[in-house]
Amino acid sequence: MNNLLIRNARIASMQRGSKSPFGLLEDTDIRVADGIIQEIGSDLRAKPNDTVLEANGHWCLPGFVDCHTHLVYGGDRSEEFRQRLDGVSYEEISRQGGGIKSTVRATRSTSAKALTIQTLRRARRLLEEGVTTLEIKSGYGLDEDTELKMLEVADVVADTLDISVIKTFLGAHSMPPDAGMNADEYIDFVCQVMIPKVAKEKRADAVDVFCETVGFSLEQTRRVFEAARDAGLPVKGHVEQLSDSKGAVLACEFNALSVEHIEYLQESDVATLATAGTVAVLLPGAYYYLKETQKPPVKALREAGVDMAVATDMNPGTSPIASLLTCANMASLFFGLTVEEALKGITVNGARALGLEDRGEIAPGKRADLTLWDMPSPASLIYELNGYRPHTVIAGGKHVA
Ligand SMILES: [Zn+2]
Repeated sequence: MNNLLIRNARIASMQRGSKSPFGLLEDTDIRVADGIIQEIGSDLRAKPNDTVLEANGHWCLPGFVDCHTHLVYGGDRSEEFRQRLDGVSYEEISRQGGGIKSTVRATRSTSAKALTIQTLRRARRLLEEGVTTLEIKSGYGLDEDTELKMLEVADVVADTLDISVIKTFLGAHSMPPDAGMNADEYIDFVCQVMIPKVAKEKRADAVDVFCETVGFSLEQTRRVFEAARDAGLPVKGHVEQLSDSKGAVLACEFNALSVEHIEYLQESDVATLATAGTVAVLLPGAYYYLKETQKPPVKALREAGVDMAVATDMNPGTSPIASLLTCANMASLFFGLTVEEALKGITVNGARALGLEDRGEIAPGKRADLTLWDMPSPASLIYELNGYRPHTVIAGGKHVA
C-alpha cells in the first residue's frame, strides 16, 4: 500500500544542516513504502507493487506546512472590508456588531456541515499550492459547543482531503460577546472546563492564547498555560503583535512550541527563544492587512539561531489569504527573509512549530509528503507570485492532488 518509486527528480530536500542551497540532490530517485520515505539514491530499481512516477527532472520539494490558520469560521466580512476602505472606522464597524463579534455569531449559528463546506474551499486552495500539513485553531465559538464543533470540522477536513490537520484550542482568543462574565471569569471557564475536556477527549493537540492589550493579560495567559501544562498539552501564543506585552518570554517559560506574530518582540528577549528552542512564527499576511509598520526582529532571530517559520494566519479579519506561497514571498520582501529561509519557514521549520519532527524535509524515515514542480528553481516559488502550482501532491505516500 502506498508503495511508490519517484524517478529522476531534482530534490530540494530542505534538510536541516545541508550545505547545498535548498538541500539540493540532482537526478535522484525516492522510494516510498507505507507512507514513509525509505530510500533516496540514483537508479533505484522498482520493486513488485511499486507505482513508478517519472519526474522527468522536475523539482521535488517537501509538502508544505501551514502552521498557523483560523480556517474554520462562519460568515463573511467582505462588506466590512469595503466599509473600511470607504473610511468607516473600526470602532464604528464594531459598534454595528462587526469585527470578530460577527464571526463568532456566524460561526455559532452555522451548522457543522455548512462550516465544513466553507472550510474545505479554503483548505483546497492551500492544498493546490502543495500544503499537506495544516494547523487549524478554534477560537470563534468561545463557548463549549462551538469550540468543539470547530475542532470536529478540522477533523473532517483532514479526512476529506487526506492531509494532516493539527488542531489547536484557542478558547482564549477574545472575550465572548454577551457572555455576562468578566475576563477573569471567562478564563476560569477556559482553564477549569474547556482545557481539561479538550485534553481528556483528545480534541486538540495544543493550546494557544491571544496575549495582548486587546486580548488577554499576561497573568490570564499564565493561567491558561498552567492549565494546558496540567492537562499535558503543549502551548503556543499569539504574542507581541500590537505591543510588547512579554507574552513571548512567558511562553518560553512553558517551553512553548512557538511564539507567533512577534512584530513587537524586543531584541533583548530573542535569546530566551533560542534557549527554549521555541520557533518564531512570522505572519506577514496580518502585518499587510493591518498596514503595520513595526517588523519582527528577524536579524536578531537569525543571529541567535532561532528557527523561523512562516504561515498564512488565514482568518476573516486580519489575514484573509488562502496562499502560503504569497505569505512566504511577503516574509522575504517585508521582513527580509532569504529565499531559503522563506522556504524553510513553510517546510521544515513550519513542521517544528507544530512539534512535528517527522516531516518538512525529504530524507529516509520522514513522511512521504512530497510535491513535484515544473519550474526553473525552488527560488521561483518565492520570486513569482501565483506563478507555479505543483503538478503532483503526495501526502503520506498517497496522491492527493
Ligand atoms: Zn492567528
